Amino acid sequence: MPVTRKRIYTIAQELGITSKELIQKLEEMGMPGLKAANTVDEDEYALIVNLYREESAPPKEEKPQQKAEPKAKEAEPAAPTMEKEERKGVPRPPIVSVLGHIDHGKTTLLDAIRHSRVAAKEAGGITQGIGAYQAEIHGQKITFIDTPGHKAFTGMRARGAQATDIAILVVAADDGVMAQTVEAIDHIRAAGIPMIVAINKIDKPNADINKVMNDLAKQGLTPEDWGGDTITVPISALKGEGIDDLLEMILLVAEMEDIRADPNGELEAIIIESHLSKGRGPVATAVIRDGTLRERDCIVAGTTYGRVKALIDEAGTRVREAGPGKAVEILGLEEVPQVGTKIEVKKNLNEAKRVAEKQRAREATPRRSRAAMTVEELFREAAEEEKLQLIVKAASTGALEAVRREIEGISGDEVKVDFIHTGVGAVSESDVLLAASITGNCLIVGFGVKPDAKAVRLAEREGVIILTYDVIYDLIDEIERAIKRMLGPQYEEIKLGEAEVRNVFKVPAGIVAGCYVTDGKVVRGGKVRVMRGKNEVYTGEIASLRRFEDDVREVQAGRECGIRIKDFDDVQEGDRLVFFTLQEVNP
Ligand code: GDP
Repeated sequence: MPVTRKRIYTIAQELGITSKELIQKLEEMGMPGLKAANTVDEDEYALIVNLYREESAPPKEEKPQQKAEPKAKEAEPAAPTMEKEERKGVPRPPIVSVLGHIDHGKTTLLDAIRHSRVAAKEAGGITQGIGAYQAEIHGQKITFIDTPGHKAFTGMRARGAQATDIAILVVAADDGVMAQTVEAIDHIRAAGIPMIVAINKIDKPNADINKVMNDLAKQGLTPEDWGGDTITVPISALKGEGIDDLLEMILLVAEMEDIRADPNGELEAIIIESHLSKGRGPVATAVIRDGTLRERDCIVAGTTYGRVKALIDEAGTRVREAGPGKAVEILGLEEVPQVGTKIEVKKNLNEAKRVAEKQRAREATPRRSRAAMTVEELFREAAEEEKLQLIVKAASTGALEAVRREIEGISGDEVKVDFIHTGVGAVSESDVLLAASITGNCLIVGFGVKPDAKAVRLAEREGVIILTYDVIYDLIDEIERAIKRMLGPQYEEIKLGEAEVRNVFKVPAGIVAGCYVTDGKVVRGGKVRVMRGKNEVYTGEIASLRRFEDDVREVQAGRECGIRIKDFDDVQEGDRLVFFTLQEVNP
């Protein structure tokens, strides 16, 4: 049985240390790291774990417990504590989002966690969701963002805010990986955060965990149990099975990621939900990633601002402040802020107002100017980045495959084409959001499909370019032209003439080839290729061209001349010289 992260978690729990400490210790003992741990045999692992137990056990003569424990603490290796001091802040609860195909159980899972793991008094207190809640397991907290799905997830990212630390991908065991699952995978990958797969609905008679794992492997997410590094947890959200296992895995990943925050540090908070309430005015929920948000703080959230009148937590309780990992409703903003906006604290209300107004003015123009970005500009940007990022939608899997193959065929070593996402169906809002959330250029291509109306509107607002084609060659032509442009100007050789080297002689400046021009002409300063038999020995420039003792500009066929080639002294009798110039070709 391979040693998986799940196993490491259990062992670490048994030893009363964190998984990270266990892995560190194992590494010190000559064991490979977590990734390689998969190849380690369980017996070998157990041996070392025992060794570790012995080593860190209190000395026998010591009276157990009370005395031994503080001693053991003191004796702890200095490294981890040092690291803790060096690294800013304290561990903070991970912020988690749930993604996956429709009806695979995202909402049911979020409900199940809420019911089983939110402290009873609070669970009762949740009358109306604020968009996020905190669950607790083994005394540790996890913050869940309550709006599932990749549209919400990427919508925030499109506004430049990454609220989520870890993504849960829900896949129903009776259905397997579906179109939106693939979409979710691509969105999570684009965000660059770790994911855990919850294989849901295992209670169903037609559940097939193996099929799901197979589907996952095909997407490059080989499960740990199969030797890969994707954590999968079988669950039934409906029956509440496996929920704790899932939460433990979240804690494990959080620990590995070493998520930290400093309650006294600068505030990093992101709006995850907002609406206008009849009685309370603009209401926004923020999740705090770092620092602390306090009542009476003067804040800016994008184009709006305000003094925090009240902070209300998920239980409906008014709180004075909200620290790292917390989600709170904020009352007191002038207007409803957009989801995905970051909150900044300012010295006073005037300053907050000024910053918000500035932002409003800025937003009125740059988005539009970005929207005005032409295809040309996008390709130029791609050329600078030496990478063209694409989202491709097509009418069928077959068409999609064909497009992918063709594009892969024209992208070489020098220019990378990155497929951020490919899928079947019309270009949707979620594709546009994904493109907008990507750093650098990202082009959406629809092949045989059109964007829907909402996607068009959003693309205009976000400045995302969508190109649609019906003929594959039109699409390939355009991309090919773009790639050529990315490679920089292309040159074509125009052949001018040829000559035979009949003798060579030495001059102070180097070697001169005495030639007979057999074809066309030779021009001073032109390019020359030296051919020896069928082999090309050198390509360079003509340094000097002489007829008898005089420098000349060119020599025509049927005449003799002396040619010195720049930086090349190995020209030999019998070599053939080919003369040419380079002409830039327009892609
Ligand atoms: P979402 O669209 O991903 O949010 O999916 P929902 O949470 O709304 O679930 C879709 C349907 O699947 C609902 O009828 C749920 O009751 C059902 N469902 C969700 N989880 C499970 C499960 O673990 N077992 C079974 N049998 N049904 C489930």
